Amino acid sequence: MLKRCVMVAGLAFAGLAVAREPVDLDMVSRIRQEAFHNSQVMATLSHLTETIGPRLTNSPQMGEANAWTRAKFEEWGLANVHDDAFADFGRGWEFSAASVEMLGGRVQPLHALPKAWTPGTDGPVEGELVKVDIKTLADIGKYRGTLGGKVLLLGEAREYKRGTEADSHRHDATSLEGLQQFTVPKSAAADRAKRVKEYAERQELTRAVNAFFAEEGALAAISISSWDNGIIRVAGGGSRKAGEPVGIPELAMIAEHFNPLVRALEAGQAVRLRVNVDARFTDEADRPGYNTIAEIPGRGRKAAEIVMIGAHLDSWHTGTGAADNAAGVAVMMEAMRILKAVGARPERTIRVALWSGEEQGLVGSQDYVARRFAAYPEPTDPAQKALPASLREPTGPLRRTPDYERFSVYFNMDNGSGRIRGIYAQENLAAMPIFKAWLEPFHDVGATTVATRNTGSTDHIAFDRVGLPGFQFIQDRLDYFTNVHHTHLDTWDHVEPEDLKQAAAIVASFAYHAAMRDEPMPRKALLERR
Ligand SMILES: [Zn+2]
Repeated sequence: MLKRCVMVAGLAFAGLAVAREPVDLDMVSRIRQEAFHNSQVMATLSHLTETIGPRLTNSPQMGEANAWTRAKFEEWGLANVHDDAFADFGRGWEFSAASVEMLGGRVQPLHALPKAWTPGTDGPVEGELVKVDIKTLADIGKYRGTLGGKVLLLGEAREYKRGTEADSHRHDATSLEGLQQFTVPKSAAADRAKRVKEYAERQELTRAVNAFFAEEGALAAISISSWDNGIIRVAGGGSRKAGEPVGIPELAMIAEHFNPLVRALEAGQAVRLRVNVDARFTDEADRPGYNTIAEIPGRGRKAAEIVMIGAHLDSWHTGTGAADNAAGVAVMMEAMRILKAVGARPERTIRVALWSGEEQGLVGSQDYVARRFAAYPEPTDPAQKALPASLREPTGPLRRTPDYERFSVYFNMDNGSGRIRGIYAQENLAAMPIFKAWLEPFHDVGATTVATRNTGSTDHIAFDRVGLPGFQFIQDRLDYFTNVHHTHLDTWDHVEPEDLKQAAAIVASFAYHAAMRDEPMPRKALLERR
């Protein structure tokens, strides 16, 4: 052992450490053959998006997706296939129809879709449109007694900003070079205090406004889509928790239909709308959510050690959750299928997790990591408890399970369907030469870059936060952040099949090599912040 360390150090000094990380090129060839010439990744993506459809957490379709992915894992011969329950997510919700029509002055159909977890209209309703602008709790008083039987237009018009760049984007040498620069962070403490305050105020305002609109007897509320160009970008409203006020039917409307309504009202014209939203909660009481889990068991003395790959199976409700994130799910499932197909017999156990509740704040992955590996103590102060984990004050030392030491690494994919161009090392410099070696056989398909920087906001953070190595790949953006992210355009048509094949090959190879290397993935120092 000592001898080996000395040798590696010596080579690192000579600048040759990269060459020491072994790569099984025979296995990589077999993985590439299966991934590129015998792919099932689009069959998986098609079923998830076009047969099942959107997969809002705890909706009936999410349940279908859990069952179908389980059946696929069984069919492919994976072990320990099961749904992993995480507690107290809330109620399921679904919608089947939504329409908004302008009945006068002019007549026009208007494009809008409901926010998840808001009630339906219980048949078509008609009413006069009034503009409501509530920015603080004090603003509520101005409207008391005036909103009964009205349709509410929330907020202001937004000036149209013409795009200056192409809609779709792939990395080039310059942009990949740019990713390799690391920005030393400013102190986060002041920023966190500000974010906590804003979060708490926003929660309080939303709750108060939901209750107020319902008390007033307003018919429905319409807000502006957060993107232009006819795109409906909409997430959740109301409340998924049983017993909390869900407010009134609420929809997001395309900017190009919303802005004219604002101008008409400001010009003193009367506008009458008919709104019909067929939406329903599918549970009376809160229910747990479910992650779907499966494994290729390890063999020999490292069998109890764990390598994980994953992506979130849940989605928003207006598209079919294709790029966000059936793409990632199809890739992770395909990587497991490939490893079985090529007869891989890993030493560590390779486990795949298809998370749920990601879109509501990494709920499924965080709960899983807390139960299986490590967690900071739950806060006792109700105000702290109400905050998402990223905003909480420190609660004490990390509590670790025995599996914490048996865990090696987690790889995630959740930036759309664009091909893998490399990986973010999350400031884990010791992992970088390992990744560089593993990427080498994929330089010819565009995956070359290992960046020191962090990338955030999805399920690998649940691992990273407790000091476990969790990584996400650098991907080509395509039109993820211009057209599809959380929009009704997030459909099959925006997915690139060859990119998914490439990604599945790389993920399968990374998982295999992580499961076979002598040592688990090196860990960076844990910052005991929470
Ligand atoms: Zn996502």
